Amino acid sequence: MSDLPEIKLVFDEPKQRVKPPAHFADLDPAARKALAVELGIPGFRANQAAVHFFTHFNDDPQSWSDIPKDLRDLMAEKFTPKMITLVRSVSADGGRTRKDLWKLHDGVLVESVLMRYTDRTTVCISSQAGCGMNCPFCATGQGGLTRNLTAGEITAQVVAAARACELGEMPGGPTRLSNVVFMGMGEPMANYNAVMRSIRNITTAQPDGLGIGARSVTLSTVGLVNGIEKLIDEDIPVTLAISLHTPDDELRDTLVPINSRWKVREVLEAADKYADKTGRRYSIEYAMIKDINDQAWRSDLLGRLLRNRNAHVNLIPLNPTPGSKWTASRPEDEAEFVRILETYGVPVTVRDTRGRDIDGACGQLAAAEVTSEA
Ligand code: SAH
Repeated sequence: MSDLPEIKLVFDEPKQRVKPPAHFADLDPAARKALAVELGIPGFRANQAAVHFFTHFNDDPQSWSDIPKDLRDLMAEKFTPKMITLVRSVSADGGRTRKDLWKLHDGVLVESVLMRYTDRTTVCISSQAGCGMNCPFCATGQGGLTRNLTAGEITAQVVAAARACELGEMPGGPTRLSNVVFMGMGEPMANYNAVMRSIRNITTAQPDGLGIGARSVTLSTVGLVNGIEKLIDEDIPVTLAISLHTPDDELRDTLVPINSRWKVREVLEAADKYADKTGRRYSIEYAMIKDINDQAWRSDLLGRLLRNRNAHVNLIPLNPTPGSKWTASRPEDEAEFVRILETYGVPVTVRDTRGRDIDGACGQLAAAEVTSEA
């Protein structure tokens, strides 16, 4: 019972000192038009703004030459203000992985990572500044939650990535942004409304959205069951990823502390319902931590849990965070873990470790920046 207040927190907006500017990407297309009219901007100008923003990936109203100058000023202030400013970028993997650090209007820092593969280009985005889930192996979790991002701030990360792709900033020439994963900073289910608005902005056809298929959008969660159940009702078949990290409640209570509220069984049952409704296989994320969660018996237990489920396991070699005594599993333990899962017919892949040398995983760039500024 003592953890009930924590449940309440899940959908609450954390206290914010200065509200982020409103942006038309916080709204659905009808409400965007209504806001424009309220601001004295003719409704059709909202469509023009949408073409600039979602089709041309241009977030600077001052350069929108088909809009009169005075309206550009008004839009830049109240309709489509700049939500994120690049602080710095670092590249790895011959430029095919790029991590961008963004400053928000209040100086808060978040990051996104753009990864080009042969068959797709994926951006990993943040949904919160910091995170309240407190998973001990995750860099973001160590600093706690600063605040939720708005849909405008989340969407702006995707638009910036789409622009970088179109401008050919990644080696291999211009390309299309094809995938979006909510695996940057934050717990997306704890910022549900802004994340859902962002998902609609990403998946709605141009010009009102970016026109990326829902199947190419992955929402990764620690397993907030109330959020998964809401998602089931949205009727939008994004790929669901569950950060399980261990099949047993005893260890999961430590690795993913929200497990004290929703147990492994409840989380998997909610994911099963999602899979039934959408027909989509879900992913089980599993960070392989040496001698902590990588024992053969845990693989066996995981295999038994998942063998009749519509799930796929994604093993992630732990990216050690500064100051932590935990490290990635030995290759032979990882191989054995995979082998055992396969005996149960559970599909399993080992995630490639893009961007290791730029702390490409999990809040480390923002953390480094804060340390060096302090
Ligand atoms: N809060 C969401 C999404 C952000 S983290 C979630 O937990 O799912 C995206 C994935 O990276 C999660 O599976 C998370 O557990 C994993 N992760 C976090 N820190 C990690 C680390 N140091 N090494 C490997 N994976 C990590």
